[in-house]
Amino acid sequence: MKLKKDDRVVVLGGKDKGRTGKIEKVLPRQAKVLIAGLNLFKKHVRPQGERQPGGVVEIAKPLPASRVALVCPKCGQRTRVGYRVNQVDRVNRDTKLRICKKCQAAI
Ligand SMILES: [Zn+2]
Repeated sequence: MKLKKDDRVVVLGGKDKGRTGKIEKVLPRQAKVLIAGLNLFKKHVRPQGERQPGGVVEIAKPLPASRVALVCPKCGQRTRVGYRVNQVDRVNRDTKLRICKKCQAAI
């Protein structure tokens, strides 16, 4: 999964095509991402006692990760994600860096 929480992404297709948002949650097993305020659906909720009256609420549903593209925080362009392995640091094993394919900046 090339996307992470808090990434800014642009939607490539569907009803929110062209809109951007921030990833709230990544669902790797479903290959989906949840973006705040995007892909909203109206959900009808049943009253749950006096405090929760029920009605229609809008909830965001996860989008397939293939339907969004990362927006690079450095150059602001829609981009693909590449990886660069930092071989200098041998102590910390997790040194694989994500890089922007357009400006090569680490993300
Ligand atoms: Zn970039």
